[in-house]
Amino acid sequence: MARYINEQCRICRRAGQKLFLKGERCFTDKCSISRRNFAPGQHGQKRTKLSEYGIQLREKQKVKAYYGVQEKQFRRYFQMASNKKGVTGEILLQILESRLDNVVYRLGYGKSRAQARQFVNHGQFEVNGKKVNIPSYLVKSGDVISVREIKKDNKTIKINAEENEKRPLPEWLEKDSEKLSGKVIRLAAREDIDIPIEEHLIVELYSK
Ligand code: SF4
Repeated sequence: MARYINEQCRICRRAGQKLFLKGERCFTDKCSISRRNFAPGQHGQKRTKLSEYGIQLREKQKVKAYYGVQEKQFRRYFQMASNKKGVTGEILLQILESRLDNVVYRLGYGKSRAQARQFVNHGQFEVNGKKVNIPSYLVKSGDVISVREIKKDNKTIKINAEENEKRPLPEWLEKDSEKLSGKVIRLAAREDIDIPIEEHLIVELYSK
């Protein structure tokens, strides 16, 4: 039997749902969730009942994996969300959606958030005409995100833009594929965010 070595797919299988960590493969029937929707490992097919804490923890891990955020930064986002007026869980998701790497992915210039993060790290993008190479940079309403002029011959980004032309664009963003740019019309609201999670469980986890 083939050895299972795909780390990202293991995260999805552990979570029991698609987290779209691998780009186009996630949209095909090669997706491991479509083929083997049970937890990885020797006892993966056993049904185990999670404790309340386990359920909350799993929800947090899902969101961290989905956006590719480490614990320390995730906690920082939670603090930011708690300090703002409104529903903490929803604000947390809004902050995560506002990360530059996520916006580049949502605009279709990256196949996955991981690839979008790499593009940003490598200085391929600018915000309002200024180079930004920090994936965690938080965009604001009205910001214009574009591929830097000197990087516009990047074939991978161009191919991504063409291939992802039909990918649904969230209503809070608009894009100009020809110019390889996009604009934040407004910040994302909960109904704009398609991640299948119950964010209140994360709030409960951190409130203990
Ligand atoms: Fe792997 Fe993507 Fe499917 Fe997740 S959604 S199991 S990352 S192919």
